[in-house]
Amino acid sequence: MRNFHNKKKLGQHFLKDKNIVRKIVKLAGIKPDDYVWEIGPGKGILTEELLNRKCNLTTFEIDEKLYPMLEDKFSNKINLIKEDVLKANWKKLLPSEKVKIVANLPFQITSPFLFKVVKFSEHFSRIVIMIQKEVAQRIKAKVGSKDYGILTLKIQYYFDVSYEFTVKSHLFYPKPKVDSAVISLIPRKEKPEIEDEKFFWRIVETSFRNRRKMLRNNLKEILNAEQINELSNDFDLSKRGETLTESEFIKLYEEIERIQKTT
Ligand code: SAM
Repeated sequence: MRNFHNKKKLGQHFLKDKNIVRKIVKLAGIKPDDYVWEIGPGKGILTEELLNRKCNLTTFEIDEKLYPMLEDKFSNKINLIKEDVLKANWKKLLPSEKVKIVANLPFQITSPFLFKVVKFSEHFSRIVIMIQKEVAQRIKAKVGSKDYGILTLKIQYYFDVSYEFTVKSHLFYPKPKVDSAVISLIPRKEKPEIEDEKFFWRIVETSFRNRRKMLRNNLKEILNAEQINELSNDFDLSKRGETLTESEFIKLYEEIERIQKTT
């Protein structure tokens, strides 16, 4: 490892603090024989603690410079996938059992990673990840706040989210510019039933297209003037997307569906 140079573009900020590592693994409630995916084992600080729990561990690491060390340290105790986790074929790799994800995520893949997790959400029983504090706040944001947006709605649609704790930047090396936070995601027991989820998310995205604009203006992308008029009989279109809760968005979607079928 003497010649190892950290790669900033790969988000390589390694954890120094074993207490944090233990707290993360404890939150994931890892039991022997659990199937666990770790994203970005790096030099293996989290990997080691996970293996202490005797789980079935699959790790995804993109940096080939780290492979010899990981293979040396953990040899056949881990299934090391030498690939970009975003490009890996999850369909093929996911076992029939539910999987837990535990990771100190590289910052730059947070959003695409979470959107991929959402696609496969039924395969995961619990996700405990460290991400930038600012992104954790966006995921957990309250309706009407500046942090509230598509990411909030999307993650909370699939998961119950807990903001667990903040991790100060000096607990990593090299030290990142911002603090981090650990969050837990547990699949929601009762997800809303939406017939056309694709269209629902199109409405949400359109409503946030321009945060400063009222729904009346943003929704012009989907509805004609007559339809907007009709919608305004049942829905206050002077509101902005950022003030709508999930159930209000569902109501908006249902109204739009009805109007589109009748006009
Ligand atoms: N788990 C270690 C720790 O806590 O010290 C390292 C965490 S470091 C924040 C992120 C790790 O993810 C690095 O080892 C980096 O090489 C790896 N990585 C970055 N992008 C990746 C990707 N797209 N797929 C898989 N691993 C990636």
